[in-house]
Amino acid sequence: MNLNDVARQTAAEFAKLYGREPKWLVAAPGRVNLIGEHTDYNDGYVFPMAIERYTVIAAAPTANGSNTVRLASTAMARAVALDLTKPLTPFPKGTWANYPTGVIAGFIARGLKPSGFDALVNSTVPLGGGLSSSAALEVATATLLEVITGTKLDPVEKALLCQKAEHEYASMPCGIMDQFISVMARENHVMLLDCRSRVPELVPMSDPAVAVLIINTNVKHELTGSEYPTRRKQCEAAAAAMGVAALRDATAAMLESAKARLDPVVFKRARHVIGEIDRTLRAAAAVRAADWAEMGRLMYASHYSLRDDYEVSCAELDLVVELAKEIGLQGGVYGCRMTGGGFGGCCVALVRTAEVEAISNRIMSGYKQVTGIEPTLFVSRPAAGATVLKA
Ligand code: ADP
Ligand code: MG
Repeated sequence: MNLNDVARQTAAEFAKLYGREPKWLVAAPGRVNLIGEHTDYNDGYVFPMAIERYTVIAAAPTANGSNTVRLASTAMARAVALDLTKPLTPFPKGTWANYPTGVIAGFIARGLKPSGFDALVNSTVPLGGGLSSSAALEVATATLLEVITGTKLDPVEKALLCQKAEHEYASMPCGIMDQFISVMARENHVMLLDCRSRVPELVPMSDPAVAVLIINTNVKHELTGSEYPTRRKQCEAAAAAMGVAALRDATAAMLESAKARLDPVVFKRARHVIGEIDRTLRAAAAVRAADWAEMGRLMYASHYSLRDDYEVSCAELDLVVELAKEIGLQGGVYGCRMTGGGFGGCCVALVRTAEVEAISNRIMSGYKQVTGIEPTLFVSRPAAGATVLKA
């Protein structure tokens, strides 16, 4: 479904639910990170692109003029109502409406209070698959609030407002990547984002001969929850041992000299981060030069580093990468890696457009044969950031 189809569908569902046409329609994309994993909280670089999967919100002023916001989603059974005459507070943890509510609270905190409205969320970004349906929902809400309040925020401020909503209302200590790319993406561009300076640079990627293939393993391993904080602490320990503010400031040579003083696991974690930051910069250079073979090599190297040094992969992600590697350059695959936090979710592959069909079929059947699970595959061009479709 292209964006116009999703928008039409959302408007129709809105009319069914609320009994009138929406006045406003907005959209924000999901994203895939091509390379630069677990680098964001080390002040490093990430390299995401927006995908042609969108969260659309249809909305209209309340019919009776009340100061109430009604939020519904086609993906959720439960709708919520917000009373704008009272201060907003988060719902219990895990409630989907925390994401939009946090964004609305962010606007109100800036003195931008909307009047009551009815809204319906509808998305083609898979929920919880590592393609950032959460940021798409936040950024779509912020785009809606811009239209309703007649105020266009600075794009960086808008992204940070959405990040804050995820921190404070959804209790997710996320970085800045997802919101930056969903707000500021440009068609046929990948974003090299410096997570220290927060300066994004758009790198053109428009060669029709290559395609980005996303493979959702459709597994998500339940973990103890300590994996992410533990790795953050290990990174901080490595940086402290080398006397730098963040691993961004360390080099492979510095790490080698500090090896004797470091716990072996901490050493491996730091080796991933330092190597990954370097690979991300080299990947941006490779895309600029349309050197797809080099980009592919960097993607494989990233995967193996995440698997062996950072230890955040899993059997299903490894299987997809091995299937891609078997197809190889001859079969049209430049590179493949896990993307997102790990332990499930998606892989991303760079492939020759002409071979997309054959590659998809081989990965699909190979993956299903071993795991018994049906993967979901789709290709995407680098898409544009959030847009207003009707105002
Ligand atoms: P990801 O961002 O990788 O998709 P998250 O766990 O960060 O995964 O965010 C998923 C959560 O975001 C969902 O469980 C839900 O609470 C909320 N969400 C995302 N998209 C929608 C939607 N279309 N409708 C309702 N809630 C959504
Ligand atoms: Mg998310």
